[in-house]
Amino acid sequence: MEKIRLGVSACLLGEAVRYDGGHKLDRFLTDTLGQFVEYIPVCPEVECGLPIPREPMHLEGNLDDPRLVATHTKQDRTDRMTQWAQKRVVGLEKEDLWGFIFKSDSPSSGMERVKVYNETGMPVKKGVGLFAKIFMDHFPLLPVEDEGRLHDPKLRENFIERIFTLKRWREVTTKKKSRGKVVDFHTKHKLLILSHSLKHYQRMGKLVARAKDLLLNELYLQYQTLLMESLQLRATPEKNANVLQHIMGFFKEQLSTDEKKELLEVIELYLKSYTPLIVPITLIQHYVRKYDQPYLKEQIYLNPHPLELQLRNHV
Ligand code: SF4
Repeated sequence: MEKIRLGVSACLLGEAVRYDGGHKLDRFLTDTLGQFVEYIPVCPEVECGLPIPREPMHLEGNLDDPRLVATHTKQDRTDRMTQWAQKRVVGLEKEDLWGFIFKSDSPSSGMERVKVYNETGMPVKKGVGLFAKIFMDHFPLLPVEDEGRLHDPKLRENFIERIFTLKRWREVTTKKKSRGKVVDFHTKHKLLILSHSLKHYQRMGKLVARAKDLLLNELYLQYQTLLMESLQLRATPEKNANVLQHIMGFFKEQLSTDEKKELLEVIELYLKSYTPLIVPITLIQHYVRKYDQPYLKEQIYLNPHPLELQLRNHV
C-alpha cells in the first residue's frame, strides 16, 4: 500500500530538536499510525536557524498578529520565523503532503489555543504558532491536527478518516481523468460524506449528476473542494445514527422483524453512547454479507480505514 505523506512537527518523532535539547516522541504517531504514513518532519525553530539548545520563546502582543519573543532576553524572532516559514510552505508544495500533525502549545508549531501574553503579562490561550498559521493559510483545505487533540478518540477518528479519504481521492486524480472515475468515487463515498454533511452530500450529488456538462478539470476541482470541505465537518453520533438508519432502508424487505428490532436497539445504544460505533457497523456488515447488498458492500463508510487502527472501537 502506498503510504500517506504527512508533515509532522519533528520533535513528535523523537528528534531532539526542542529548546532544551529534548523531544516529545509520540508513540501513537510513530508505532501505530507510522505503519501507514510516511512522515516529512519539520522543526521551524531549528530550520529557521536557531540552535539546540536555545532560549525558550513565547508569543506576546496582539492575538491576531502576535510577536515571537525569546522569554528571557526578549529578542524578537518574528521576522526570522515568518520569512523562513513563507519560503518553507512553498517548498512543501513539492512534498505532496496529505495533512500535517503539529506539536500542541508551541509558539511556532501549535495550531490552536497557544498562549499569547498580553501587556500585563497574562496569557490568553487563543493564539496560533507562527509556522502553523502560515502553513494553514497556505494549505486551507489540508487536514491538520495536533498530537494533543489526537488523544481524543473522536478527533483522532475524524482526522484519520480524512487522510485516508484524501489518499483514495489522490489515487483517482493521479490516473487518467474521466467523469466515470469521479462518479465511481462518489458512489462509494456517498454514505461517508453524508455522515459529515447533508448539505455537501446534496451539493456533491448535484455536481456529479451534471458531470457531463462540465469541463473535466472543472469537475475534478469542484468535487475536490466540496469533498475536503465536507470532511472538515465532524461526523457526530447524531449524523452517524442518521446514516445507520438510512442504511437500514436498504434492508427493508429482507430483515426479519427481530433483526430490525435488534439493529434499531443497537443504533439507539450507540446514540446514547453506551456502545461504540463499531457495534452497529459490525451488525450491518453482517447483514450486508448475509443479504448480499452490492451497493452497501462498496460503501467506504462501512470500512473507511484499516481495522488495525481500532478507531471505531472508541467513538
Ligand atoms: S514544537 Fe515545533 S519548533 Fe518546537 S521543537 Fe517541536 S517541531 Fe521544533
